[in-house]
Amino acid sequence: MDVRAVLSDIETAAQQHGWTLEIFGRQGEFNLFALHRPASIGPGHPTRLYLSAGIHGDEPAGPLAALRLLRDNQWPANAELWFCPCLNPMGFVVNRRENPDGKDLNRDYRHLETAEVLAHVAWLERQPRFDVYLCLHEDWESHGFYLYEQNPDGGPPLAETIIEAVRNLCPIDPSEIIEERPAQGGIIRPNLDPRTRPQWAEAFYLIMNKSRLGCTLEAPSDFPLRTRVNALVTGVNAALMSFNPGSG
Ligand SMILES: [Zn+2]
Repeated sequence: MDVRAVLSDIETAAQQHGWTLEIFGRQGEFNLFALHRPASIGPGHPTRLYLSAGIHGDEPAGPLAALRLLRDNQWPANAELWFCPCLNPMGFVVNRRENPDGKDLNRDYRHLETAEVLAHVAWLERQPRFDVYLCLHEDWESHGFYLYEQNPDGGPPLAETIIEAVRNLCPIDPSEIIEERPAQGGIIRPNLDPRTRPQWAEAFYLIMNKSRLGCTLEAPSDFPLRTRVNALVTGVNAALMSFNPGSG
């Protein structure tokens, strides 16, 4: 993936469709940025949705899905959106999971030891709470698509809706153990309190500080890139629609 070209295309698509771009940090030659778009119609309180991608530099499907979603521009009208489409651009330059210092940014959201995550969290702290978050990833070891759902209050889940939509175009990982955690039908529901964990992924920070519902989507890297991007785009769209019944 040519990350410079993809980021340029993301900025162009965002500008064309009414997003504002905020630079919150720097990584090597790249600006780290977030996109924001207000709800396009205003009856009642907008649904606040946060999306992120590209924190692992060997997972190109995330930023490519971000680009597709921005170009398609099919967002629920009552949705206010925040989108961080590429949190580790230097990782993509060298096709490596970690940042240039060899740190996995997606393990740094508890102690904030990297400049990238420190800047990202500082930006997140300036935003309102989100009704739902979606983090876009790939997994190099999985046998199909799967996801994590965090839903500590036991509200209406999103996971099944996403799985059922993705199933039509990408196999779902049937394993009963994925990443050392019990899974069922491609769904992992982590039930450990993040406070018991020494390291936090972005999703743990989000569930502790910004949202009470969200999913981490994992597309299987063994499958063609087109399939992985389609799976992530379809999963996001399914989640957005289910969270905004009657829209679209
Ligand atoms: Zn990842």
